[in-house]
Amino acid sequence: MSATRPMMKGTRSSCIPDSGKVARIVSYVSLLIVGITAILSFPAAQAAESGSAQEVSRVDSPVHYDIRVHIDPLERTLKGRSVITANTREELTLVIGRRFEVLKARVDGESIGSSATVGAMRAWRIPEEEKLPRRIEIEWRGELSPLDTSLDHRQTLGQNEPVSGESGTFLPDSSGWYPYLAGELASYDLSMELPAGQRGVVAGRLAEESESPQGFRARFEFPAPTGGIDLMAGPYIVETRTIRSAGGKPIVLRTYFHREVADLAGEYLDSVKGYIDLYESRIGAYPFTEFSIVSSPTPTGFGMPTLTYLGLEVLRLPFIRATSLGHEVLHNWWGNGVYPDYAKGNWSEGLTTFMADYAYKERESDAAAREMRQGWLRDFAALSPSQYAPLKSFTSRTHGASQIVGYNKAAMVFLMLRDLLGRETFDRALQTFWREQRFRVASWEDLQRAFETASGRNLHVFFDQWLTRSGAPIVRLTKAVRMKAEGGSHHVLVTLEQPEPAYRLRVPIAVHTQQGEKIHTVDLENTQQVFSIETDVAPLEVILDPDLRLFRHLMPQEATPILRQVMVNKTTVTVLLPESGPARDAAEILATKLQHRAPKLIPGTDNMPATPTLVIGLQDQVDAWLARHELHRPEDMMGKGSAQAWTTRLSDSTTLAVVSARDIESLTALTRPLPHYGRQSYVVFEGAKAVSRGTWPTRPQAVKLD
Ligand SMILES: [Zn+2]
Repeated sequence: MSATRPMMKGTRSSCIPDSGKVARIVSYVSLLIVGITAILSFPAAQAAESGSAQEVSRVDSPVHYDIRVHIDPLERTLKGRSVITANTREELTLVIGRRFEVLKARVDGESIGSSATVGAMRAWRIPEEEKLPRRIEIEWRGELSPLDTSLDHRQTLGQNEPVSGESGTFLPDSSGWYPYLAGELASYDLSMELPAGQRGVVAGRLAEESESPQGFRARFEFPAPTGGIDLMAGPYIVETRTIRSAGGKPIVLRTYFHREVADLAGEYLDSVKGYIDLYESRIGAYPFTEFSIVSSPTPTGFGMPTLTYLGLEVLRLPFIRATSLGHEVLHNWWGNGVYPDYAKGNWSEGLTTFMADYAYKERESDAAAREMRQGWLRDFAALSPSQYAPLKSFTSRTHGASQIVGYNKAAMVFLMLRDLLGRETFDRALQTFWREQRFRVASWEDLQRAFETASGRNLHVFFDQWLTRSGAPIVRLTKAVRMKAEGGSHHVLVTLEQPEPAYRLRVPIAVHTQQGEKIHTVDLENTQQVFSIETDVAPLEVILDPDLRLFRHLMPQEATPILRQVMVNKTTVTVLLPESGPARDAAEILATKLQHRAPKLIPGTDNMPATPTLVIGLQDQVDAWLARHELHRPEDMMGKGSAQAWTTRLSDSTTLAVVSARDIESLTALTRPLPHYGRQSYVVFEGAKAVSRGTWPTRPQAVKLD
């Protein structure tokens, strides 16, 4: 047993790209497993009556928690009582965070016996038992850690501590703040008490709520078996709006906002309504009875069924409503409505990215959508081959490389599938998939079946190559020859090549004529193939996949070097030019921040290695180092700003990134902002502010015809 519940836990994964302003928004898609259906939409009256909802849920869920918890954020204390009902005979492991004092623990009326310590958890073995249901009663209390609002998002994520303070309480499931049975999904009924002025929320249906000078009370029901409970509380102002779902049932939307952002409530509720309408029309009815947006005093972001928890400063960013919020709402269909079969690969992030983040770009403009595809392909080109992993092995976002595959490559696979089948068939397949798999665990194979049924095509090769092969196809346009015109029509012979083993690809080829550009799609399935393309007027130029609709390895001239290369590529080596003192320290801190690990250092006197290299130093040191390697500072960066960072592709096509600062102060000022500019080829800073940035121009694979 481990301290967490890896099999059962939802996975925390980033759901917005680097913004340059905030750290990251992360989605914590709880993993629900067994099929449930209408239990989540009990009429309020019925649920409020003497626990009738619980009776039903106990039948459906083998394990049920009935939790009462009292939290005092000022005192930072928690006191709880839980009755666990288990309709399972096997041996069980009861777990709670070690920081809590257990006041009473009884199993079927008997004392529970002694516990073992596993990391930050305390665990009891409960032997198998024939008589059902089994009843475990436990009372506990303990202190919560102080809320530290100075943490950044990554730190907040890494923290498995229950934190509390006047401005907010966050009890992550992984902290063991309530007793649970390891490895078991459970439904729950949770009552909370907080001092007056505070309000709290967990995922599920708000069944009862009251507020008086004595305090706040609320009861939530989650009648389906779910993977864990995160509790949030704070001095919230709650706004409520009830909308009607496509099927006519009410959906209650709420914001639990701090005073500082309370004026944003209306806009957020409008946006959520818009997203629910959008996805109901594209997929099917919203599967829950509510959706809440909860503000967090730390710069974090999670998505769970029925709610999303977003940092105060994150909520203020104008693009969050336009992007991440939609992504989180969509997870109520993909991820929390249909559960990915984690053992066979998580398809839900790719599909959510495709139908949210990417769809919004498509709605904006063709150029915006192309830019997103280009970003995905560039990011992929920044990886080292050791970081390629088959899409099937992606479960959750653990680092940059896994996001590049699990979110971006997967989204592009859905794009290629839609290009292949057409929008109408694609949407129909997803609607059927939703209808059939709602509240079930579904795998990539189930998705494949849905697309095959809708299209009447065998998609085995398509899914097999994109899911099981790691890396990306390498397609080269090696030759294009214009044939003599015959009877008014023109032909161009185009040669494409790819290495063994060949992928089967639909490759877009643009042919330029005096009348403009026309895209032809050819089916490449061998390592070398010649295609004859017919045009009405004389062809002038042939370009390979100019819109970047094919997931492939960009050639060096198609993928300009970007800073991310030396940030995510595991083979990167680092040269710190200052030899000692505060400048050396500042350079080392920056390298560590950029790479999220201790940098692999090589001496500045070494020859240029044949792997991505990051060089950091003060201006004079950098100039001397560049001169020694016969390199130059890019001309348009000469003398600009207090610090500069840029990339260069060396003759052996490895990437060099250089960070040059005027003085120690300017170098130190880069620590926070620079990691957010991974998508750029160069950035010029004045202090901590980026005053200029961009990517070096790219050249597509093209052949001019003469
Ligand atoms: Zn997500």
